[in-house]
Amino acid sequence: MTPATLVQPQVKLTQHLIDGQWCDSADGKTLETFNPATAEMIANVAAGDRADIDKAVAAARRAFDSGPWSKMSARDRGKLLYRLADLIAENADELAALEVLNNGKPISEVKGADVPLTIETFRYYAGWADKVTGDTIPVDSTFGNFLCYTRREPVGVCGQIIPWNFPLLMAAWKLGPALACGNTVILKPAEQTPLTALRLGELALEAGFPPGVLNVVSGFGETAGDALVRHPDVEKIAFTGEYKTAQIIMKNAADTLKRISFELGGKSPAVVFADADMDLAVRGAMTGIFFNQGEVCCAGSRIFVEESAHDEFVERFAAAANNHRLGDPFDPNTRQGAQVSKEQLDKVLRYIDIGKREDKATCVAGGSQHGDTGWFVKPTIFADVTNDMRIAQEEIFGPVASVIKFREINEVIREANTTMYGLAAAVWTRDISKAFAVANGVRAGIVWVNCYNTFDPAAPFGGYKFSGHGRENGKGVLDMYTETKTVWVNLD
Ligand code: ADP
Repeated sequence: MTPATLVQPQVKLTQHLIDGQWCDSADGKTLETFNPATAEMIANVAAGDRADIDKAVAAARRAFDSGPWSKMSARDRGKLLYRLADLIAENADELAALEVLNNGKPISEVKGADVPLTIETFRYYAGWADKVTGDTIPVDSTFGNFLCYTRREPVGVCGQIIPWNFPLLMAAWKLGPALACGNTVILKPAEQTPLTALRLGELALEAGFPPGVLNVVSGFGETAGDALVRHPDVEKIAFTGEYKTAQIIMKNAADTLKRISFELGGKSPAVVFADADMDLAVRGAMTGIFFNQGEVCCAGSRIFVEESAHDEFVERFAAAANNHRLGDPFDPNTRQGAQVSKEQLDKVLRYIDIGKREDKATCVAGGSQHGDTGWFVKPTIFADVTNDMRIAQEEIFGPVASVIKFREINEVIREANTTMYGLAAAVWTRDISKAFAVANGVRAGIVWVNCYNTFDPAAPFGGYKFSGHGRENGKGVLDMYTETKTVWVNLD
């Protein structure tokens, strides 16, 4: 039930947005989208395939090569992005309600994080639009008198494939830099959560983005996503999701030698030293693993605790987890909502079962589904875990924490790095030398010291190893959405 004070979510858009027009799939196919909190079907949404991707790519190509977008000044592109950010702010309550309905995450988090960060991301990249500049290069004059300079030009038509855990925010992370740099885009939202991406497409039209600049084609990965990855007229693919999908994409993008960037999974270590502020550490561990139902690529899922503080930490962490308010995501007091799909619910429960069977680990909180309506999992903590166990090595993508005991700093840094992933890490200590030793020693793209899950559009986000290629956020992304052209002018 949605409390009367909240905007009632309404599903108005279920078609693709291609070339500024709303349309069904060429073959008329649709997919079902659900409310994870009730397991009820919300709507049938167009399920795109090759023909729809062909149409969207052709529109994006036209918009890039010859439409008003191709002639628009960088400053005017920035103004459109500012306008889009303003429209998102004006429609924030509606977007938040739609996100909760389709994803199952709590309204407090959507209003506190997803929507404001989406707005700020568009504003941040709006600011960059007219500041992406080339250089004048002081070249050797032995062979002549030259002016040599570089221009930064957009890459072209970009396919952006996003996941279901932060549907709106992941769209913003991808669209902000791509559009600021003058590219055109085909955005493919995850099949589980297409609704806010479609509304975002509508707001982009209202903001004044010319037709074809932003196309939104919903559909499955194996059909719509695959067609985008293989399309010869798509110059770049930006993808967020599982590393196994990234491996498939990398292979399928090889024939057309696409530029690719990946933001993938993690099994991020969170290190708690005995000298830490324990309140802070417990709060940090809670947000690290239970924020967004644990459906976060940078979730702090392996919590290493120094031996002398281990028992106290586990007791307090388990007490906090047992008090964590789980339930109706539309209730403003709810802290944890539903897993996004039945498939994810089953996956998380499977891992909980694996943890219980691995004889050494003890389940000290949660450990089962919550209720029998919707796809909720109790915040779950395993203690006495060792780093070689499956629950400590494989990405669960749910509210399941593994607590691992350690004795000394070199051991914990080594263990923290014993994972295929390298997205994030955290450390809680009052000792600055320990904090820096961990921050420098872990092979991870983001390190939080005495905090967790702080984000800003200006701060780079991304991973080492199997956690990805390239970064989201920050000015570095602009390099991924531009080509550098070097121009030599003979002045003699
Ligand atoms: P999950 O398994 O958690 O849904 P995925 O990595 O499969 O995560 O999905 C992330 C995004 O990648 C989704 O938009 C999905 O549709 C898309 N996707 C999945 N498989 C492919 C594929 N073979 N090619 C292109 N995109 C894909």
